[in-house]
Amino acid sequence: MDTMQIIVTVAGVALIGVTLWFFFGKRPQSGGGTVNDLYVCPMHPWITSSDSTADCSLCGMKLVRGDKRGS
Ligand SMILES: [Zn+2]
Repeated sequence: MDTMQIIVTVAGVALIGVTLWFFFGKRPQSGGGTVNDLYVCPMHPWITSSDSTADCSLCGMKLVRGDKRGS
């Protein structure tokens, strides 16, 4: 049966693909990302939030990520 052969072939290729993806696709998260990012309003830098979806309470602008070194 050709259909069965196709199914087996596709299943085998898919299995190999999934296996390869499982072993090589996952990249361990190496360091480099800051854990506690702070989001600030571009217009009002004193308005900060740790929530990336937060809006400025004064002007309503979407907060952008900013690093908090210096002032
Ligand atoms: Zn603002």
